[in-house]
Amino acid sequence: MEGRPDAREIAGRLQSLNARIAGAAARAGRDPGQVRLMGVTKTVPPEVIRHAYDAGLRLFGENYVQEGLSKIELLPHDASWHMIGHLQSNKAKKVAETFASLDSLDRPSLADALNKAALARGVKMRVLIEVNLGGEDSKAGCDEEGAFVLAGRCREWPGLSLFGLMCLPPYLDDPEEVRPYFKRLKALADRIAAQNLPGVSMDELSMGMSHDFETAVEEGATIVRVGTALFGARG
Ligand SMILES: *Cc1c(COP(=O)(O)O)cnc(C)c1O
Repeated sequence: MEGRPDAREIAGRLQSLNARIAGAAARAGRDPGQVRLMGVTKTVPPEVIRHAYDAGLRLFGENYVQEGLSKIELLPHDASWHMIGHLQSNKAKKVAETFASLDSLDRPSLADALNKAALARGVKMRVLIEVNLGGEDSKAGCDEEGAFVLAGRCREWPGLSLFGLMCLPPYLDDPEEVRPYFKRLKALADRIAAQNLPGVSMDELSMGMSHDFETAVEEGATIVRVGTALFGARG
């Protein structure tokens, strides 16, 4: 078994990931400053997450509420944590209390629960709508029409601020085969933005993972979600 990566190793990987993001942005004529790297921490031990923080990473994504809570407590408060996993409505309150954003909003009942929790705290909760572009039953997320409809209903939830979309495309080894899915997410965001819905922006496109983030950056990603390429294979 491969050992846990040490601080130097994590810092080196972070540097090379940032360089690859900058290269992809340059190829697409984009400002690399528009793209943020999110470290995906599911199953990653706290000390390894800490190495990434110490190397300068400030944006983290977690799939599991309970796991996330203990990790959030371990890092300084300037780390920003997004919930990116499938969320049961009964955990919405915890998420509103501790996470900066829910990037996996996929149904009205969850929006209701999160809205209520945010209003009770007197805050606006940032959300992204998760879009399941491959129509895979194994994955959460709305289909494209569902996302369009959900965005249109956002005025019903004054405790939420919709900032954009997150996608989970089908897993395909060749990033070129994923490119059409990234284009579809961008097109959907443009279609929603064109409606000028009050309080809704489509500034964030969370797309691309370890094996295809450069393609995602070329297609307009503002957040890339990287787990294994930063932290190593999950145990
Ligand atoms: C695990 C996970 C990632 C990271 O995947 P890697 O291939 O390890 O980079 C990104 N997004 C979501 C929603 C995930 O669950």
